[in-house]
Amino acid sequence: VRTLTLGLIPADGIGREVIPAAQQVLNALPSSYQLAFQFKHCEAGFEHFQQHGTALPQQTIDVLRQECDGALFGAVSSPSHKVAGYSSPIVALRKHLDLYANVRPVISTTTGAGEAAMGEKAVDMLIIRENTECLYIKKERQFTDSDGQVKAIAERLITQGASERAGRMAFRMALARQAVREKQPVDQRRWTGPPKVTIVHKSNVLSITDGLWRESIRHVYENTPEFRDQIALEEQLVDSMVYRMFREPEVFDVVVAPNLYGDILSDGAAALVGSLGLVPSANVGDNFVMGEPVHGSAPDIAGQHKANPIAAIRSAALLLENIGLSQPASAIYQAVDTTLRKGFRTPDLGGTATTEEVTEAVCKHLQ
Ligand code: NAD
Ligand code: MN
Repeated sequence: VRTLTLGLIPADGIGREVIPAAQQVLNALPSSYQLAFQFKHCEAGFEHFQQHGTALPQQTIDVLRQECDGALFGAVSSPSHKVAGYSSPIVALRKHLDLYANVRPVISTTTGAGEAAMGEKAVDMLIIRENTECLYIKKERQFTDSDGQVKAIAERLITQGASERAGRMAFRMALARQAVREKQPVDQRRWTGPPKVTIVHKSNVLSITDGLWRESIRHVYENTPEFRDQIALEEQLVDSMVYRMFREPEVFDVVVAPNLYGDILSDGAAALVGSLGLVPSANVGDNFVMGEPVHGSAPDIAGQHKANPIAAIRSAALLLENIGLSQPASAIYQAVDTTLRKGFRTPDLGGTATTEEVTEAVCKHLQ
């Protein structure tokens, strides 16, 4: 039996409901997978900031770094106005642990009959969001100009190195997805062409920053025969990317985008498959993986047993998958699909099931 030590950081709002749900599902994995879990409960979040003056205690960083094989993060309630001394713990954690790519699979769930149960189209795309730079370096300033105008400026950082490693991750994952597809019957494959990577940018306007992003990824592609020979590469300007993604999401395989575009595109893509409450992510670095649902803390439904736990449960599976444990991961994905097909759905999917009922159904279908 292999024991995995996982940090759990529920943070705020529904993070405190969906992370325990994911934990419950991990604990319900049948013993045949030879996995045991030790969980380390870690503090972070806006509420923690209000009570203790810090959103990300050093102890949380130390425990994750020194004691954990991976982690699961819930969501944080970052306010929309500036609060002195506060900054988002998730953005900081991604930096501290050098989790440079956020991997977001967006997949529609089909019913037994083959039609899409949630959302209209057969979507099976993987969005790779660069996770360390772009506008998220938060170098903003405000000042009053000599003409009396109040101005605000944000710096946007793009580096060749970060762009190249995000691109390399996208190409590697495109090949990995292809390897998985090859084991599936042809009629069950949603993507039947060669592996494809779409670079998202806005180089027609931001020719220096997005230009560097685009050229760095193209450089990796052109100089790596393994990628060049097996993967089709295309580009899409971010605005028309949104248009195409809503009209024909089935044409996308792997999509790689700078931090902010990737954030926005993946929330949008979640609408295509039925709910933000379904879409998982993993923050991936070379030495650590942290699963995290794409959604936020959903204060509008927190504490009401309405939160859909599936995004967090799938994030736990994605975490396992990214540390090389693909069998227990696919068992969880399948248990989730069965649960949805059998009609256990929270209100965001038009159902009446509670967070707890959906979680218990997933655990039951794992057995
Ligand atoms: P949100 O994702 O929290 O909610 C958007 C909508 O989706 C809401 O109507 C919500 O009820 C619904 N929703 C989200 N997750 C759901 C789930 N699991 N089940 C059912 N319904 C779900 O986004 P928001 O409202 O824009 O932001 C709320 C707070 O979350 C803000 O403070 C924001 O800063 C924070 N946030 C945090 C993260 C993160 O921690 N990574 C990401 C996004 C937003
Ligand atoms: Mn987001």
